[in-house]
Amino acid sequence: MSFHKPEEVLCNGERFKVMIPEQELQKRIAEIGAQIDRDYEGKKPILIGVLNGAFIFLADLMRYITIPCEMDFYKLSSYGDAKVSSGLVQQRKDVDANLTGRHVILVEDIIDTGLSASYITNIVEQKKPASVEWVTLLKKSEALKYHLDIKYVCFEIPTLFVLGYGLDYAQEGRNLAQIYVIDDEEKQEK
Ligand code: 5GP
Ligand code: MG
Ligand code: MG
Repeated sequence: MSFHKPEEVLCNGERFKVMIPEQELQKRIAEIGAQIDRDYEGKKPILIGVLNGAFIFLADLMRYITIPCEMDFYKLSSYGDAKVSSGLVQQRKDVDANLTGRHVILVEDIIDTGLSASYITNIVEQKKPASVEWVTLLKKSEALKYHLDIKYVCFEIPTLFVLGYGLDYAQEGRNLAQIYVIDDEEKQEK
């Protein structure tokens, strides 16, 4: 048995190729899990994933963490179906857990401009947690417009549109077990 991980894939009529293979993803996520284990020893952090994109990353990351931990989700939408951000963030689901006094670890699939992450940071800080940190699978370093302190970054990537491993293109491609990038460089320009 193995997960869905073709070399190339057509998604909404566009061709994508592998950027980060499954093994590399898992190795790095395991390292970050071990780092969280060390940093939060004796505490019981709550991992909060940002839906939809972060659901697979959170599921894997959590299984590399061996200290007691909890989880919850926020749901945001900002991209619509386009490849560039609409610049608008809407909250569609709040967390159920009481975050006051908790060690919160916010979990994103990708931080691009940082708009979504700073929006959530503000909401969480109002709930008076003991601490707040971000862990993201991917970070587009050039695009970061908002001042954000991201403690755990699995991979820094160029400003290219990627999909797979929870990340979608017009809702397709989330079921791929690796990160893919568009094969035609001209199509990156939007
Ligand atoms: P930001 O608010 O940081 O600009 O964008 C964050 C959100 O935009 C991510 O959570 C993700 O949903 C979406 N996003 C940003 N870049 C990409 C990308 O390259 N591919 C996909 N599929 N989504 C992206
Ligand atoms: Mg996301
Ligand atoms: Mg999306």
